[in-house]
Amino acid sequence: MKAPPFAYARARNLAEVFELLERHGDNAKILAGGQSLMPALNMRLSSPELLIDISRLQEHAGVQVKDGHVHIGALTTHAAIGESADLRKHLPLLADAVEHIAHPAIRNCGTFGGSLAMADPAAEWPACCVVLDAQIMLASKSGTRRVAAQDFFQGLYATALQPNEVITEVVIPIPGAGYRHAFLELARRRGDYAIVGVAAMAKISGTSISDLRLVYLGASEKPVPALETSQLFVLKGFSESALKEAQQTLAGELDPAADLYSSVATKLHLAQVLTARVMKQLAA
Ligand SMILES: Cc1cc2nc3c(=O)[nH]c(=O)nc-3n(C[C@H](O)[C@H](O)[C@H](O)COP(=O)(O)OP(=O)(O)OC[C@H]3O[C@@H](n4cnc5c(N)ncnc54)[C@H](O)[C@@H]3O)c2cc1C
Repeated sequence: MKAPPFAYARARNLAEVFELLERHGDNAKILAGGQSLMPALNMRLSSPELLIDISRLQEHAGVQVKDGHVHIGALTTHAAIGESADLRKHLPLLADAVEHIAHPAIRNCGTFGGSLAMADPAAEWPACCVVLDAQIMLASKSGTRRVAAQDFFQGLYATALQPNEVITEVVIPIPGAGYRHAFLELARRRGDYAIVGVAAMAKISGTSISDLRLVYLGASEKPVPALETSQLFVLKGFSESALKEAQQTLAGELDPAADLYSSVATKLHLAQVLTARVMKQLAA
């Protein structure tokens, strides 16, 4: 199928974007990498009157390290995240997760901000942002505000983003010494969206774990922090009995929807399998 007709404007700066968003409201859509929006238009799932192309606003692309935080511009492509030496050093979780996003052609165009705005429940970046305690910077004609990732994702493809706002960057605190991370997911084929996945980080010292954060993707309408499961490992450590108990607890914390290929029971089972693997990886 082909996209319905739409008008197109290539923005030269954020002021132009704000102006167009104010004028067209819900009838306008921002176009970043186009890797989710264009398929949606072609499938006629969306029919905006105007596309506002922000892809040339390259001042909002790139990775910077400042004052103990990593700043990732909204227009940073998935591929650039994978290639960033700063991210490999300070937030290796992102460098590991990027391998699971689609295929190189899509990673070359798709952007960090686009993925967050899309808020697909099976996408990698939203879960990573929640686990890493990211702040999402939103800008509009009336100013800027920051929203914690945990509050930004509100439901199925639903976020705190208002129709007149643009994501400009994401700010992530650099974890202190002693933190380890792991990212695992299961997909039907390499490059497919995850059936289920987990982004994890924890402070490990010998056999003791603290600040364990397990955030699941594909396991509900939005990224799910499994707080009780995480707390159980913190209290009981890495033992087999703790794992069994945690896997039971996890089933009560996730709420996956069945799809064409996987039942709810299959998804819960896969999440439990990933939990065992991710805890082994953190302990190793
Ligand atoms: C075959 C295929 C497989 C894929 N597999 C995966 C996968 O495994 N994991 C995964 O995470 N993704 C996957 N994707 C999606 C891909 O990662 C997209 O790049 C991403 O979801 C959207 O980024 P984009 O820059 O292309 O955004 P666009 O498609 O341009 O926009 C997507 C939405 O976000 C809005 N938007 C974009 N940027 C901003 C901004 N800065 N501020 C406010 N709103 C904005 C747009 O208005 C639109 O509603 C896949 C895509 C395809 C086609």
